[in-house]
Amino acid sequence: MSVLVTGGAGYIGSHMVWELLDHNESVTVIDNLSTGFKWAIPEGVRFIEGDAGDMALVEKTISARKVDTIIHFAGSVVVPESVSDPLKYYENNTAKSRNLIAAAARMGVDQFIFSSTAAVYGEPATTGPIREDAILNPMSPYGSSKLMTEIMLRDAANAHDIRYVMLRYFNVAGADPKGRTGQSTTGATHLIKVACEAALGKRPSFQIFGTDYDTEDGSCVRDFIHVSDLVAAHQKALEFLREGGLKFTANCGYSRGYSVLEVLETVKRVSGNNFRVIESPRRPGDIPSLVANAHRLKSRVDWMPKYDDLDFIIQTALDWESRLVSNRKSA
Ligand code: UDP
Repeated sequence: MSVLVTGGAGYIGSHMVWELLDHNESVTVIDNLSTGFKWAIPEGVRFIEGDAGDMALVEKTISARKVDTIIHFAGSVVVPESVSDPLKYYENNTAKSRNLIAAAARMGVDQFIFSSTAAVYGEPATTGPIREDAILNPMSPYGSSKLMTEIMLRDAANAHDIRYVMLRYFNVAGADPKGRTGQSTTGATHLIKVACEAALGKRPSFQIFGTDYDTEDGSCVRDFIHVSDLVAAHQKALEFLREGGLKFTANCGYSRGYSVLEVLETVKRVSGNNFRVIESPRRPGDIPSLVANAHRLKSRVDWMPKYDDLDFIIQTALDWESRLVSNRKSA
């Protein structure tokens, strides 16, 4: 039996691979290395360079590696890029996922865990933490591309007896506390990564996109979850499926929001470095406030966050970023 991790050379995927190894799972990674790194895959893990949407390759891998579960991370993740290049997102996140699900169905892989996103909700109609039964109304092609895959997986699962868990991530940040992997993407756009780069002098300044939102301090509010807590939720989901669980969809976050300005202050304080912050116009596709109601995840699979602490999230991100600077691993 082995677990097939698509996108296992990427940021969240590589943390998942370590989590699975820590639980003595046999792991196979498929990754096309478009944004991931071969060196991020630990020794002892079977690596197949290729595309999660390549049905023939996936089917061959499922049979050769006796795959019983697919954990599907591969995809594109940048909201503003999805606005300027939507078809890339419908290709990478929707069309390729369709092929992967089809391969699972044909080969009888009946356990599937899918990386979805809070972007499926769009702008919440009510204030406060968002529940899974909120209206799904994505405001970006990124959110739409993921929602379409949620729908495909739900329908294919009904028709082909696939049991599944869909996890809607809020804002994932930080790095493995043991320093084994982290966010290594070059040209990163995500807030904490970019702010850490600025704090370590890898960028001359930080641009804040919008300070005129209807929030407490005018900047957007997000719910940041430490990547290790996120992959622990996937491990719990895997156990749920292995015990015969049928399906569920759950938010992944801490039910607490921090504004972009609060995050920047924290990065400055934790790093001890001041950096220049430039106030810039709003970025297309951004939602003012996104905070999870994470009750369902806790109650369904007994998930308990270990790193619900913004300072710790940022410290681990900074530690990894410094390592990248010194090792030049991101080159
Ligand atoms: N953000 C920013 N400057 C940056 C990167 C992000 O002001 O260089 C803001 C962005 O506009 C949004 C928040 O930080 O309000 C979170 O953005 P990110 O891209 O990290 O994640 P998203 O919520 O879009 O998935």
